[in-house]
Amino acid sequence: ATLPYDDQNIFAKILRGEIPSQRVYEDDWAIAFHDIAPQAPVHLLVIPRGPYVSWDDFSERAPAGEIAGFVRAVGRVARDHGLVAAGYRLLANVGGDAGQEVAHLHVHLFGGQPLGPMLA
Ligand code: 5GP
Repeated sequence: ATLPYDDQNIFAKILRGEIPSQRVYEDDWAIAFHDIAPQAPVHLLVIPRGPYVSWDDFSERAPAGEIAGFVRAVGRVARDHGLVAAGYRLLANVGGDAGQEVAHLHVHLFGGQPLGPMLA
C-alpha cells in the first residue's frame, strides 16, 4: 500500500523553494538538482512537480500527460548535460527494500565516468 503524500517531505520543500538546492533544470513537469551526496561525477535528481510518493504511485495515478512530460524531462536533463554519447544511468528506489529515503518520486541520473554495477 502506498503511503499518502506528505507535502512536508524535503523534496517538496525544494520544489517550493523553501530550502535551497542547486537546480539545473526546470519545466512545467519536472525540476532537476544536484544530489547533496553525489556518488558519481554527475549525480542529479529529477522529480515531477506533482505530488507522487514513488514510481509506483506516479505510474498508477498520474495523468498520461504528466507521465509523458516527466519522462521527456528526464531525457532532456541527460542530454543537456552532454551525457548521451558516453552514456548514463537512471535509477528510482521504491520503498523499503530499495532504501527509498525521500517520499517524493525522484529519478537518480548518474554519469560522467564508467559506472560500476550499482549506485544509490
Ligand atoms: P533515495 O535513497 O530516496 O533514492 O535517494 C535520496 C537521495 O536524496 C540521496 O541520494 C540523498 O543524498 C539525496 N538527498 C537527501 N536529502 C537531500 C537534500 O536535502 N538535498 C539534496 N540535493 N539531496 C538530498
